[in-house]
Amino acid sequence: MTYEEILKQLEEYRAALASEDRLARAGLKARPAFVSVRERFTELFSQETIVTLRGLIERTAQPKKRDQMERSLFALLEGVVESETLPIEEKILQKAAGLETGANGLKIPYYDIASVIAQEDDFEKRNALRAAQAALAEELTPLRVDLEHAARQALAKFGFGTAREYSEAKKRLRYETFLQKTIPLLQETTGMYRRVMSDVLRRAYGKELGDIGSAHALHWRAGNEFAHLFPPEKLIPLCSGAFATIGLPFEQAPQIRIDAEARPGKHPRACCYAPHAPEEVHIIIKPQGGYEDVRGLLHEGGHAFHFAYTDPSLPYEWRGMPRSHALSETFAALIEHLPENPLWLEHVMRVPKAAADRAGAWALLGNLFMLRRYVAKFSYELAFDEKPYDIARNKELYAKTLRDLTGFSYEPEFWIEDMDSGFYSADYLRAWIASSQLEEHLVRTFGDRWFLKRDAGAFLKELFAKGVSWDAEELVQSLGMTAWDPLPLIRKFDGISRLLR
Ligand SMILES: [Zn+2]
Repeated sequence: MTYEEILKQLEEYRAALASEDRLARAGLKARPAFVSVRERFTELFSQETIVTLRGLIERTAQPKKRDQMERSLFALLEGVVESETLPIEEKILQKAAGLETGANGLKIPYYDIASVIAQEDDFEKRNALRAAQAALAEELTPLRVDLEHAARQALAKFGFGTAREYSEAKKRLRYETFLQKTIPLLQETTGMYRRVMSDVLRRAYGKELGDIGSAHALHWRAGNEFAHLFPPEKLIPLCSGAFATIGLPFEQAPQIRIDAEARPGKHPRACCYAPHAPEEVHIIIKPQGGYEDVRGLLHEGGHAFHFAYTDPSLPYEWRGMPRSHALSETFAALIEHLPENPLWLEHVMRVPKAAADRAGAWALLGNLFMLRRYVAKFSYELAFDEKPYDIARNKELYAKTLRDLTGFSYEPEFWIEDMDSGFYSADYLRAWIASSQLEEHLVRTFGDRWFLKRDAGAFLKELFAKGVSWDAEELVQSLGMTAWDPLPLIRKFDGISRLLR
């Protein structure tokens, strides 16, 4: 195979997998046919193709061309790993589709339990639902263990002793170094987090931080107190208006298709697919009412515009094969976190000032909770990777790490389910930091109401045009800032104290 043939087939393969995944998540297909897609590409993922590509890379001195080819090589290795893992993933989805709980006299499919907990106003019923969810998670555990083992065994054949080694090679960073950079995020926010979150939980539930389960974090995060500000039928016009205000109207990006239908079997978590950026971009969302919908649509919209304004003349490696997801998550996070800004709530969402102040501070506390949860997840995932086969240790470590950093008790049964593959949790954390830096740059350049300026949108479009050719840290450096500088993010959290008033 020539390099051009390899690249063309990689795009076809990845688009076909994404399409299966999207149709299944959207409830348009009962099961994704991952395995039959994979079977159509045996020649692409043969030893011969890998040897050919490795030879080409060795003979290429030009750094940009090398970067492109290396991305293709990682995609080939992942394709080989997927011949082992996709059959197990299909089994997990099949088994999960048959799971439901009868807790509280309701029949709830497995994947809907978290959103039902978020909407349940009875404290004890939430506990019962969470316990039922944990019990069902355990039924999936043996398959998830198989999946982890299969992926690691396949990677070992290419000389990667751990999943961390593989991710570090692909993403070109050291996770230990990055984990150290997250320490100030915790240190500088712990006092404030404990004080404000304790106060909030005492008033809402009569409970102390440290004495409350993760079910109630789901309920608190849903923000039912603010649901009337964001009714489901207004979700699309409200969010479209918010994007149009920045100079990113959906009408001018017809390649973004929004599927907001409430179909049975549709997964409740919003997502974005760009199998052929910039021509084909999909947002999938299942509106249920409330702030979570707004957050979801703003986040996925951030991804969607990034992909939709990617320069079509870029090669596929730079349109569709990122080394990490940190860059795209940076744009998604920038938009997702707008509701934490009272000025945005007031001037874009037309929320009265007093309510905007309160809702913004509440959203900001939610952001800090999630940030601490993701630092915990990332540090647990690194520890997991050292001893992936020690189930008892990992269960205990999971529950302890999550509890230590969030103050909520996490059920040990979620030890393997609550992990993001490929250290995606670290991509999110990199994006958390970079998006605050980008926001600081926007405020400096366009003023504290940058989100009302079309010029800000034009500036973002210039960044979007580079597709995934660069990563979050390079974006930050192009703005004259230092990569992984946590200070802009730490400064944002000062606004949380408004909740104490
Ligand atoms: Zn995202």
